[in-house]
This record gives sequence, structure tokens and C-alpha cells, in this order.
Amino acid sequence: MSTNTLRVPFSRPALGTEEEAAVLRVMRSGWITTGSETLLFEKEFAQALAPHGTGNIPPVQAFAVNSASSGLMLAYDACGVGPGTKILTTPYTFISTATSALHLGAEVVYADIEADTYNIDPEQIRRKLAADPAIRAVVPVHIAGNVCRMEEICSIARSAGVTVIEDAAHAFPSCVHGVYAGTFADAGVFSFYATKTITTAEGGMVCTRNEEIAKRIQLMRMHGIDRPVWDRYTSPKPSWQYDIAAAGWKCNLPDILSAIGREQLKKAHQFLEQRTAIVQAYNRAFEQYDCFTLPPDSPGNAHHLYILRIRPDKLTIGRDEFAAKLMERGVGVSVHFIPHFHMSYICGRYGITAHDFPNAQRQYERSLTLPLWPGMTEEMVSHVTAAVTALGKEYYAG
Ligand SMILES: *Cc1c(COP(=O)(O)O)cnc(C)c1O
Repeated sequence: MSTNTLRVPFSRPALGTEEEAAVLRVMRSGWITTGSETLLFEKEFAQALAPHGTGNIPPVQAFAVNSASSGLMLAYDACGVGPGTKILTTPYTFISTATSALHLGAEVVYADIEADTYNIDPEQIRRKLAADPAIRAVVPVHIAGNVCRMEEICSIARSAGVTVIEDAAHAFPSCVHGVYAGTFADAGVFSFYATKTITTAEGGMVCTRNEEIAKRIQLMRMHGIDRPVWDRYTSPKPSWQYDIAAAGWKCNLPDILSAIGREQLKKAHQFLEQRTAIVQAYNRAFEQYDCFTLPPDSPGNAHHLYILRIRPDKLTIGRDEFAAKLMERGVGVSVHFIPHFHMSYICGRYGITAHDFPNAQRQYERSLTLPLWPGMTEEMVSHVTAAVTALGKEYYAG
């Protein structure tokens, strides 16, 4: 047992003096909720997703929200998801990919993931769409920042006449052939939760190139008020004059948080470089051991999570025990994700089991997520690789 007492947290936000100064600036300005800072964050975020000009496709519009979960609800609603309709996603995602549809009175149909990635299998999409005409939207999730097969998915969905909404909570700034994740489909939703690639503590962004979807999101994000909030206090029209055009929600992002987001956005590519260097160090350390399988990877990966897979046939301990022993050695670990069919509520509602989703279950049983955040020191990275490889040797089954 190592005497090294270093502890590596699973995640820690990379916030600096720039974020501190931005928060103070907004706090002292007298305007702390949604206003000009949020407008700028939206503009800059949209620009970051479409840096090479737009050609003849409509520009990306970005709408800041208080979480990706509410962003998903807004995007689903804007794409016609509601009572009598269904969304199609995988059981291998965070719960709100599904519950955001349930809140709208819609139902969820699940498709299994591919055998080697954690992403939705396009062939499964084809099959499920053919079997169920109530499916209104397909929701691919770019797990860990590794982009789904979007061209195939969009073409299958288009020929079936259903919309595609990307759960891009892990995928800023994933980019394939010059196209950013979150802008492949009808709408895309990003998360700025504390552990994500950039953070506002809590927050998210909904993106779309579709004018009608954009209008509906804007309306429903803020009580159904027919004019933008900031405009309510700055336009020459009296601030008390507005109409309610729908029963909207309250999902806006305040300026204090948008100010943090603007600073994080400037650092997003630097953060990605730092995470990529850590991924490379992990890969180099683990690839020599046949008891480990490296995470799925493809070009443009934002490397949000490092999901290591252990091979049960090569080890005498399972994932849970492996994770517990890593924690004992000061390595913060997590599991992404507990598939939805293991959640009592989802089982009760749909009667689905691990048996129905062999790939998701197989990946779940062997996956554990290691620390991957920009502020990790070389010493921390070495501590993680040493702990993982030591356990691999100690419990090697041959
Ligand atoms: C984090 C996450 C969400 C939810 O994000 P919030 O901003 O916390 O609401 C949705 N989907 C996936 C895949 C996530 O990882």
C-alpha cells in the first residue's frame, strides 16, 4: 500500500481571478439578473459555435438558461414534444435527458448504445422509429464529448420526419469537420454545471439555427412574456407593458452567472488542451495492461470525461470494488452513467431491464470515470495512473 497521501478530487472547477473580477463587476453594476451580460454571453457562445462564418445556412442562435435540464425541456417543447408524443434516446445518459420529456407529458423510448462507444446506435434508431410513429424527436447524447454519428442519425431522422435534439451537455467544444457538436441537428443543449467543461456553477445554453424553434424557446424561457426581459426595462415602451402568449417557465440565466460563463468561454480551448494532455498520459499508462480498455475516442472529442473500462475476465475484482479501492488511495472516481433501467422510477414506468439493453449493461458493469480537469498537476496525474496500474497488477487474474 502506498504511503502517498495525496488526494485527487474527482472534479474541481477552474475558476480564476478573471471570473472573480467579472462577478464583482456585475454585482456592483446594479443589474444582477438577466440583462446585457447574458446577451453578450449568448452572442459570444453562438460565435464560438460558428467561427467560420455561416455561408448560406442560417446563423446559430444561442439562448442562455439556468440548466441543461431546463434547456432540454425548452428544446423538446419547441420541437413539438408533448402529450401523445415520445422521444427516443439511450438509457446511458443522465436522467434529465429523459425526465425533461416526461415533464412535458411525453414518453421516452430507449435504444441501446453501440457495442464499443457509449453513444446511440443508428441502426437501433432506424428500427425504433419504424416501430413507433409516436416518436417525435431523437436525442443523441455525445457521451464524454465523443461525438455521435450525426450524419447518419440526422439522415435517418430526416427520412422519418422526426427532429433531432443533441444532448451536448458533455460536448463543448467538440467539433467534427469544422462543425461543432450542438449545431448538427435541429437544436443542441449544453450544460454549465460545476463539473462540465466550462461552468457557470449552474447553467446551460440552447442552440438552434431554426427561427421558429428559437422564437418558441425565447417565449417559454421567460414566463411566456412576449418580449425579451432586458428589453422590458430598457426599451422606450413602458416596462409594465407586456402580453403573456403562453404558459411559460422560468429558465433564464442571471448576469452574475453569465459573467462567469464569458470568462470560461475564453478559456475553453485552453482547458481542452489541458484535458487532452491528461487523457494522453492516462492512455500511455493504461494501454500496456490488457486488464483495461481505453475510452472510445474519435476526432473532435471535447474529452469531458475519462471513462476507463476494466475487463472482468482479467481481474479478480469487479468495478465496484475497483472504484472503492481507488477511493481508498485518494483518487476521486465516479460512474457515468447508471443506466435508466436501473432506476426504480423508470423500471416501474416502462418495465425495462438490463436484458433489453445488453450493450449499455455491459459498459456499465465495467466503467469507471477518473479525474479529468484542467487544474490537475502532473503529480496528481501520476498519482492516478500509479493507483490504477497498481490495482491492475494486484488483482490481475491472468
Ligand atoms: C449534466 C448533464 C445534463 C444536465 O445538465 P444540468 O445543467 O445539470 O441540468 C444533461 N445531460 C447530460 C448527459 C449531462 O451529463
